[in-house]
Amino acid sequence: MSDKVFNIPVFDVVVVGGGPAGATAAERLASQGVSVALLDKAGRIKPCGGAIPPRLLRDFDIAPDLLVARIASAEMVAPSKKRVSMPIDDGYVGMVDREHFDEWLRQRAARAGAHRLTGHFIAIDRLGDKTMVRYHPGRDVEAPRKGDGQRLCAKLVIGADGACSAVARQEIPGAHKVSFVFAYHEIIRAKALRSEAAYDSTRCDVYYQGGISPDFYGWIFPHGETASIGTGSAIKGYRLRPAVERLKQAAGLSAAETIRKEGAPIPLKPLKKWDNGRDVILTGDAAGVVAPASGEGIYYAMASAVMVAEAASRFLATGDAKALASARKTFMRAHGRVFWILGMMQWFWYRSDAQRERFVAICRDKDVQRLTWEAYMNKTLVRARPAAHMKIFFKDLAHLFRLVSP
Ligand SMILES: Cc1cc2nc3c(=O)[nH]c(=O)nc-3n(C[C@H](O)[C@H](O)[C@H](O)COP(=O)(O)OP(=O)(O)OC[C@H]3O[C@@H](n4cnc5c(N)ncnc54)[C@H](O)[C@@H]3O)c2cc1C
Repeated sequence: MSDKVFNIPVFDVVVVGGGPAGATAAERLASQGVSVALLDKAGRIKPCGGAIPPRLLRDFDIAPDLLVARIASAEMVAPSKKRVSMPIDDGYVGMVDREHFDEWLRQRAARAGAHRLTGHFIAIDRLGDKTMVRYHPGRDVEAPRKGDGQRLCAKLVIGADGACSAVARQEIPGAHKVSFVFAYHEIIRAKALRSEAAYDSTRCDVYYQGGISPDFYGWIFPHGETASIGTGSAIKGYRLRPAVERLKQAAGLSAAETIRKEGAPIPLKPLKKWDNGRDVILTGDAAGVVAPASGEGIYYAMASAVMVAEAASRFLATGDAKALASARKTFMRAHGRVFWILGMMQWFWYRSDAQRERFVAICRDKDVQRLTWEAYMNKTLVRARPAAHMKIFFKDLAHLFRLVSP
């Protein structure tokens, strides 16, 4: 697929990072005949709850056998321990294990023609008019830092290297200022859970309690043989491990065997710029595209990757770097409103136990449940039911002005 300049492999596009965003961008471009290198560091499973909506399964043609669980309902738990059940009337939430899901996406990209490379991105160098990606080859998680590494030559670099992206920090002004929720979870063995534990392998439990997260939420997501149990917070120094212990206790899961403990930051705001106006563009977590309030990022990573791949194609065809800016515009047109609403929700409802209590109480409303699931499952705001929207609006106001008790 590649030429060589001074013995350096040349590609149209080098994608740095082979998570859902990078693998999707590489697959889309390679299947159009673009020469693509997909560089990913090996050895770490992305810490993730693994919940994905049906829209993702449809849009990205995901093999059904990648689903380790199908979730039929969510249970919202208030500070008072009151529980509100939110059944999914029509469909399910899919659960994937990122170890297998991400590798499946990378393999699909390779089948489409992307050239897979395992190694650790170091930097982008510019030699004359040439753009070079420098990396340490190899499978070491902590790549050997000796030497300069190896180079790839590219017309365009796609930074898909996740939250705290090294590509973004080098190339996009302001990228280091992103605010994060730091999320931590433990993978527990679910198969052996005692039957009296309040655990249901087809139900997600979502804890809105200040003792579990002061500004986000705690979760228990079933994954078949295992489950992800975790929490997050944007507050620096908030101790997430003891919070997960409290969550386990609250859920009756303290005795469950822990298989893995891991954490990672979740960016909660799209960057203002995704490209450097020249030869670099970002996608996925690197571009900050995770939904506020829910922390859902897999669908948005893949959706942004499709838009970035389209912008990259136009850039390669015309040589006009202005084409790169269209990716962010397209994404914000499609999802900006939902991100704004979710941001407001997080700010408003996750600020105190009194607010959380009211939020969970609102979730009892059947219209709220229907609209929430429709928005999550299909990634569209439902316009068809104005009466329901009005009802929710007035209910929200009533809660806001304390006209009803939780
Ligand atoms: C604890 C937790 C739970 C979550 N739960 C959910 C959930 O249930 N549902 C959901 O939709 N979202 C969830 N998210 C968010 C979701 O995981 C991310 O939004 C999503 O993974 C973003 O995909 P990405 O491809 O942009 O980045 P990533 O998945 O982070 O992929 C980045 C890739 O870049 C590679 N990389 C990084 N640095 C380098 C380097 N220097 N050189 C080479 N390669 C590099 C990594 O190996 C990785 O493969 C969760 C996040 C966390 C932290």
